[in-house]
Amino acid sequence: MAQAKNRLDEALREARRDDAKRAAGYRAQALKLYPWVCGKCAREFTHSNLQLLEVHHKNGNHDDNPADGSNWELLCTYCHEHEHSKLKDMAGRTDTGGDLPASTHNPFADLKARLDAKNKP
Ligand SMILES: [Zn+2]
Ligand SMILES: [Zn+2]
Repeated sequence: MAQAKNRLDEALREARRDDAKRAAGYRAQALKLYPWVCGKCAREFTHSNLQLLEVHHKNGNHDDNPADGSNWELLCTYCHEHEHSKLKDMAGRTDTGGDLPASTHNPFADLKARLDAKNKP
């Protein structure tokens, strides 16, 4: 079984490497697109503390990285952390795919109903 485990470790390592590469990619892009200011507390950043400025995905989907930056928001690490703990409290789970603030408007509210209707014979 040692070999199987090694393969799994290797696969995990590769996945993590890809993740890191991708994250570095969109972070660099976001930092080129936007001023180095936290979107919440307006704290400004320079090269010396830039590692505290993080890229937040507005829709919560880290795979959603449009080149125009429309899904990104630069947040300082504190506000970013806060943003996520807030969302977790609200959703009660982390895998909703929703990084969205509380809102009564849900554009997909009737989507399931519409799909169900379509699937009826
Ligand atoms: Zn902040
Ligand atoms: Zn985030």
